[in-house]
Amino acid sequence: MSDNGRIVLVTGGSRGIGLAVAHRFAAAGDRVAVTYNSSPPPDGLFGVRCDVTSAEDVDRAFSEVEEHFGGAVQVLVSNAGITRDGLLLRMGEDDFTAVIDANLTAAYRVTKRAVQQMLRARSGRIILVSSVVGLLGAAGQANYASSKAGLVGLARSLARELGSRSITVNVVAPGPVATDMTAALGEDRLAEITASVPLARMAEPDEIAGVVEFLASPDAGYITGAVIPVDGGLGMGH
Ligand code: NAP
Repeated sequence: MSDNGRIVLVTGGSRGIGLAVAHRFAAAGDRVAVTYNSSPPPDGLFGVRCDVTSAEDVDRAFSEVEEHFGGAVQVLVSNAGITRDGLLLRMGEDDFTAVIDANLTAAYRVTKRAVQQMLRARSGRIILVSSVVGLLGAAGQANYASSKAGLVGLARSLARELGSRSITVNVVAPGPVATDMTAALGEDRLAEITASVPLARMAEPDEIAGVVEFLASPDAGYITGAVIPVDGGLGMGH
């Protein structure tokens, strides 16, 4: 795999962590496509509309990217994700399955579509964006934590399946990051969360993006099946 000019696809890349990831790869000279569902990307980024809960959308989005860049996706960042928080007894089955679908089954969908071409190329990098919550658990987030823990099993299974073809599959597990997702929690809850982080602050999206970029770099060529915490120490020991 060459060091730059690679074809990179970031799901949910039009805002938050995904946008920071897209900017990182673009700044390094890679050819970056982002998928978006409801928020189109800023000017200068190639965007394709894709609801990651739809296998048809995923297939079409990959085809559009392949056509636009004239080649297959070499680096996949599965980042799109949602929350639907609630305590268990108030969490409807829809709230549970919708989060699993958008966060975990979607990662299976995009990975499967990307891997078809990566196997032919005998090369590829896949990075799944999980969460510290997948390892620690969180009251009110049984659905979200389950989906994020599931990504670890997905990544580690695929790391074993695909390693002999030089395809690496790794997980990044962020702690609290300053994006729309955490802004929705409100100031009091955010202050509580920040107080439990050893580094005593939230991460900026670019601090997650830097680790994603590293996992796709030649220096990370012998790393697969890893879960890399980028959590200010919040999840240490897990
Ligand atoms: P965010 O600002 O809420 O953005 C969510 C992204 O996911 C958006 O780009 C959104 O696209 C996309 N998305 C949601 N549902 C989708 C669907 N059905 N189809 C396609 N795209 C969909 O979130 P963020 O904070 O950047 O989080 C990004 C990832 O990091 C998520 O997987 C999240 O779980 C994880 N994470 C976040 C934190 C944190 O503290 N922020 C911590 C740990 C892990 P549209 O806007 O186009 O709808």
